[in-house]
Amino acid sequence: MIRPLVFILLLWLAPAVSGQEPPREEQVRYVMGTIATVRAWAPDAGTASRAVEAAYTAFDRTDSLMSTWRDDSALSKLNRAEAGLWVEVGPEVCQVLTEAKRVAEASGGAFDPTVLPLVRLWGFRQGTVTLPDSLALISVLESVGHPNLELDLPGGRARLVAAGAAVDLGGIAKGHALDCAARAMLKAGAEGGVIDLGGNVLVFGNGPGRQVGIVDPLRKNALLATIPLKDAAAATSGQYEKYLTIKGRRYGHILDPRTGWPVSPGVSVTVVSKRAILADALATAAVVLGPEAGLALLEKTDGVEGVLVHSDGRGGLTLKTTSGYASLHAAHTLQSLPGKGKVQQIH
Ligand code: ADP
Ligand code: MG
Repeated sequence: MIRPLVFILLLWLAPAVSGQEPPREEQVRYVMGTIATVRAWAPDAGTASRAVEAAYTAFDRTDSLMSTWRDDSALSKLNRAEAGLWVEVGPEVCQVLTEAKRVAEASGGAFDPTVLPLVRLWGFRQGTVTLPDSLALISVLESVGHPNLELDLPGGRARLVAAGAAVDLGGIAKGHALDCAARAMLKAGAEGGVIDLGGNVLVFGNGPGRQVGIVDPLRKNALLATIPLKDAAAATSGQYEKYLTIKGRRYGHILDPRTGWPVSPGVSVTVVSKRAILADALATAAVVLGPEAGLALLEKTDGVEGVLVHSDGRGGLTLKTTSGYASLHAAHTLQSLPGKGKVQQIH
């Protein structure tokens, strides 16, 4: 059964500074299965408008290469190919697959690009999520595992070496799309931009800075933390608009490839990194790992900071941050807000 759930976390954007702004263009569109907002700052309105278009062209390109919802994508061709056969997917897909495998290795398989057979088995693709047969689960788990995905980087080729194996870049492709969009906007003449793609935010160049806020799931309109972003990206994972309930327990759309089961909602992770692709993948990985191991993964990854929010089991919330988080931001950015007695800050 799927039911609406109160958001555990939401990203909230607000101008960090007010005052004079250069000409700006803003477009909101539905892309890659989510809502995108692209804002460009440029010397003139025409350039700002072209920069926004360049971002959407970049999104479309990523989608056409990496979507598993369309049959004509390079990734779908790889997924359809017979086990063991090399498929030309091109250098860009190879690069994202490499990054996905790297995060898979670093997270001990908590993040895994070969998770698609599990996603399908549980019915997340079909929209009718049901508890699978345990034998089917065991059999599908055999095809899951990043060593089943092999890459030939110089040749721009990939292959799946286990029968039934299939790749899903849903946990990383939006981050990659943001990195590409920012590059394309700069090339089109933008001086700065703010791009939001379904829970992934990237801020670059000149223009008003932005703050990403982590919304308190227990109190509407209250923020648990605000993170100022400048020339950096932030990704949040673990907040579910919908969830599955089985025998009174709730599950979201992120799966644990090590067990084959969906992860219980209860932890939300926001990761900040210069590279949106890394923030996206690590946020998903940390949700699977949970607060302790998730924090350890973020700590050991260079150039990455994060905030993990999880339930304290007594109706309140606990916040954990990476040790470099405080030095990255002004001391006031992570704060207990009035009336927030239940929020405990670690670090
Ligand atoms: P969202 O797409 O909602 O922003 P995420 O970035 O966390 O959230 O990605 C979730 C998507 O990633 C799922 O819809 C699924 O396609 C894929 N996925 C699910 N579990 C995993 C996992 N353990 N590792 C890699 N990808 C996953
Ligand atoms: Mg992700």
